[in-house]
Amino acid sequence: MSLKERDKKHLWHPLTQHKIHPEALPIVKAKGALLFDEDGNEFIDGIASWYTSMYGHCNDYILNKAQSQMHQLDQIVFSGFTHEPAIALSEELIRILPKNQEKVFFSDNGSTANEVGIKMALQYHFNKGEKRNIIIAFEDGFHGDTFGAMSASGLSVYNGPFEDFFIDVKRIPTPNSQNINQVIKQLEEYIGSNEVAAFIYEPLVQGANAMHMYEARYLDQILATCKEHAVITIADEVMTGFGKTGMNFASDFVETKPDIISMSKALTAGFVPMAVTSCTQDIYNAFLDDSVGKAFFHAHTYSANPIACAVALAGIELLSSENIQQNIKNIIASNKGFDEKIKKHSKVQTTRQMGVIYAIELKIDMDRYGKKRYEIFDHFMKNGVYLRPLGNTIYILPPYIISPEQLELIYSSIISLLDDVI
Ligand SMILES: *Cc1c(COP(=O)(O)O)cnc(C)c1O
Repeated sequence: MSLKERDKKHLWHPLTQHKIHPEALPIVKAKGALLFDEDGNEFIDGIASWYTSMYGHCNDYILNKAQSQMHQLDQIVFSGFTHEPAIALSEELIRILPKNQEKVFFSDNGSTANEVGIKMALQYHFNKGEKRNIIIAFEDGFHGDTFGAMSASGLSVYNGPFEDFFIDVKRIPTPNSQNINQVIKQLEEYIGSNEVAAFIYEPLVQGANAMHMYEARYLDQILATCKEHAVITIADEVMTGFGKTGMNFASDFVETKPDIISMSKALTAGFVPMAVTSCTQDIYNAFLDDSVGKAFFHAHTYSANPIACAVALAGIELLSSENIQQNIKNIIASNKGFDEKIKKHSKVQTTRQMGVIYAIELKIDMDRYGKKRYEIFDHFMKNGVYLRPLGNTIYILPPYIISPEQLELIYSSIISLLDDVI
């Protein structure tokens, strides 16, 4: 039996209506920017496997670091014990994070990183004897699939069935030049109740919301308003973190720094799952007390897994290298050149670019999970390119090690889509 057939027997895939889409494509190998299927076909990974494998799949440098760590210390309870990889990683993260960040807390994925951030913010006020139960979030944000993270996400097929069980979240639109005054007014009205604990947001780029982008200066106004009223700000950098915007973090573009930052995805370079929630000294201090009850009683069994920490350290080393920083600049310039070429195309509604993220909104009507989406997807795969359309938006978020030739192949597959397919 082929992998495709065996897959169907016991596996339940995420974000999949198995009745309509019973088949998954088996991938047997990945290296650099390439994925290989069972039949030997290769595909350029144009979205770095959901923005994780930014230094290339099975990167040899990271692989060696992971292997050495596996021989040295595989796993240890992180409550009561500590270890070098976690300590070194905390030092490196604090080195590259915005300067107000002081402490790092480990969990397993982007959703739990946000869950931790939300719980930290709620307990921060609880520990100070204040009852603040409301979270503010953007209307079309995405923060993950656990209950807190899901509650803070915009309503969609992801979280619709669970609406009755959400934590209390009030939503505001993402800001732009037209609505900014209205957004600040609405925010102030919510905050006026003195019940708002936190504001959670994806800084500057909303990945799941079709790579929607908004300006740093408007975000800054929102964050400054939150700061004035002791509303904890939580930057969800799960997608934007680790160089994708052209800076280490999207928050680097914004003057007012967040109190809490969640990160995952590229943190561990596509090797193993892990997440980190960082915070300021002020947040941390609110949990220090003679009573045990004010501590943060949140734990995951694999917190700060040493192998994951070693991998993350190697990733940050690569991110900070001249080579990768130059690659990031090259990809940005290359995407800009491509944008000049196609932004006036009759099938292009608009284009967006920030860092290595490049998105094209198509001038066609289509459902997010409709038939057209799969036609577009198939076109790319037939051309040896893996891109995953988000509604009528296609986007590139390539691994930093992608070659100019591979980038050109992605571009030409987009041009043939626009010219011949849609
Ligand atoms: C992917 C993502 C998450 C969820 O992370 P998981 O690891 O899939 O749980 C949260 N926020 C943002 C911005 C993301 O892109």
